[in-house]
Amino acid sequence: MSELRWNPILREWVATATHRMDRPQLPKDWCPFCPGSGRVPDDYDVYIYPNDFPTFRMPPPKPSMEGTGLLQVAPSAGVCDVVLYTPEHDTTLAQLPVSHIVKLVRLWRRRFRELASMPEIHYVFIFENKGEVIGVTMPHPHGQIYAFPYIPPKVQRELDSAQEHYESTGRCLFCDVMEEEKRDRRRVLAEGEGFFVVVPFYARWPFEVHITSLRHMGNIEEFWEEEIQGLARILKFVLLKYNNLYGFSFPYIMVLHQAPTDSRDYPYYHFHIEFYPPYRSRDKLKYLAGCESGAGTFINDSAAEEKAAQLRAVPPHTLEEVD
Ligand SMILES: [Zn+2]
Ligand SMILES: [Zn+2]
Ligand SMILES: [Zn+2]
Repeated sequence: MSELRWNPILREWVATATHRMDRPQLPKDWCPFCPGSGRVPDDYDVYIYPNDFPTFRMPPPKPSMEGTGLLQVAPSAGVCDVVLYTPEHDTTLAQLPVSHIVKLVRLWRRRFRELASMPEIHYVFIFENKGEVIGVTMPHPHGQIYAFPYIPPKVQRELDSAQEHYESTGRCLFCDVMEEEKRDRRRVLAEGEGFFVVVPFYARWPFEVHITSLRHMGNIEEFWEEEIQGLARILKFVLLKYNNLYGFSFPYIMVLHQAPTDSRDYPYYHFHIEFYPPYRSRDKLKYLAGCESGAGTFINDSAAEEKAAQLRAVPPHTLEEVD
């Protein structure tokens, strides 16, 4: 069973996908993503693999029941991809050379374009869950792409604020926030190669990091060649800092926030990437407890300025060190 159920109280869709209960949990003896599995080419650099347990698919299955006026049901139309970062099983994105990460950025761009051209797809969401504590079920280095038939609510909230700011000031909200962070400097980790890296003033997670394009643009399709190269280096810069914090491979959620692909124009939206690592210190995890889950307010037990200083203190110290 796979369908969208509408919550009229929170005004959001919940995707039900009961077949996902059958997903393999960290299989030890076999990996479908490794060359030789019969499921992927014997020779690849980076590769789009159709998710075996998709939340969205095309054409979608018929919903299991009819909705009512209040409790609506919709087909879960969309696409779920697995993005294989490398044929090597025992590595991570942080360990790959920048020249290889460039191939990943190009693949994201190509796939974004393909999915964006599908009329049913209103939002292309590129992300990575990394680490067992995040709930990763397959250890092979990979990310995912969910192509949604609607604009997801977190992005919609960003769009609404950005639109309001644009209409009242004529400027981009993301550009304006970036200018304030640049003036303040205390939370900045890097600037260069076309991007700006910061622990945001309003970080929800202790080591939350945002990467924002210096140039005002809505999505990865608008990248110049230098920005493709630059983003690869910037990503590795952030991931190496994370790994060097406590000397272990740092788990995180990474999400790309881009303009929707529903054929409307979003001149006020601005490309950025957000990282949410669950660790708040070497051996303590942050959980989404009552206040976060029930009230929607995050409690961050550290100041963004302190965490930025901690991240600045570990290598790499400059973008030039990363290759
Ligand atoms: Zn593998
Ligand atoms: Zn902007
Ligand atoms: Zn965002």
